[in-house]
Amino acid sequence: MKIGACNYPRSNLCNEIKWIGENQFDFVDLFLMEDGETPEKIEIKKVVQLLRKYKLKTVGHTAWYLPFGTSIKAVRHTAVEECTKYFPYFSETGVEHVTIHANWPNRLFSDEEGLEFQADSLNRLVEVAARHKLKIMYEHTDTPKDTVENAAKILAKVPGLFFHLDFGHASVYGRKPEDFIKAFHSKLVHVHLHESKRNMDLHLPLGDGDTATEKGVIFLKKYYNGTITLEIFSRYRESLLLSREIFKKIWRKA
Ligand SMILES: [Zn+2]
Repeated sequence: MKIGACNYPRSNLCNEIKWIGENQFDFVDLFLMEDGETPEKIEIKKVVQLLRKYKLKTVGHTAWYLPFGTSIKAVRHTAVEECTKYFPYFSETGVEHVTIHANWPNRLFSDEEGLEFQADSLNRLVEVAARHKLKIMYEHTDTPKDTVENAAKILAKVPGLFFHLDFGHASVYGRKPEDFIKAFHSKLVHVHLHESKRNMDLHLPLGDGDTATEKGVIFLKKYYNGTITLEIFSRYRESLLLSREIFKKIWRKA
């Protein structure tokens, strides 16, 4: 099992990598997106050097707000085109798996239509990613539509798509991470760990939300031993380090 941290997408990436490296994480969950880390702005040589210096592995993450599931075909295609511009940079930083977030159309459209729109984008993304030796993983989000059933339908519609489990997203609206693990462990290649509270996706440190983290992590360890990002956004970064200690303690006794 490897523990990682993500860069905050609006802070300087090199400074973020330094902090992650100095605090001895195993990998960086590379958030490449607006506005600092776009293809035009990313200082790729410097980034690669820093990753090497701190012996950090990488996982890729694209902008979570790209409209892959919109009903407007031209906008979907533009979102795919925009996203694929980042693929060479992920390749160069040693990424193997890239996260794409679930995205749903407005309420005039049914879940089934939303699944079709997303599958249209994802099939194209999987195909282009393969040319860069990348694999795409699907991260379910925090909406009521992001159920085990809908994630199963997407995975069935898109051959070659992997699954990314997010603990906080899997813990709102009565959902449980264990149900996602049970259904998708054979396609599970990455995990985001943080806590939500009262159906709100808040990316809280462990213990601060109402997510049953301990129960979920104990269950996860039965099936999974890969990369886990502490996707915690707090004003005080020390809380991320404390969450890492809490997580390690749970994992050890699981
Ligand atoms: Zn996440």
